[in-house]
Amino acid sequence: MALIILDSTKCSLCKKVLKTEDTIVSWSAFLMPDHKFWKYSDSGMHKSCFENWKHKKEFEYLYHYQPNIDFNSSHIKIMIEKYGIPDWLKEIQKFRKNHPKFNP
Ligand SMILES: [Zn+2]
Repeated sequence: MALIILDSTKCSLCKKVLKTEDTIVSWSAFLMPDHKFWKYSDSGMHKSCFENWKHKKEFEYLYHYQPNIDFNSSHIKIMIEKYGIPDWLKEIQKFRKNHPKFNP
């Protein structure tokens, strides 16, 4: 998850400071710098800003899809071989199976 320093870090959508009393959502870094939503991955935002964001659905979709996870990459294969498939990877696999037409 993104590093959020309350009363210092700014909401990536409205640019206002995230305060202790605010309801906040935060995201891990899950997109590459060339992605149009990159600056929102690894960020925090007011829950209300996120709920009203016009790209909310697309962003959530990407978050579940995790486009940078490549099941054929050697480090993923080795990890699965050694430790079995972890729950977080199962979630991604399941999501992709249920949304086969999505093109990130
Ligand atoms: Zn905001």
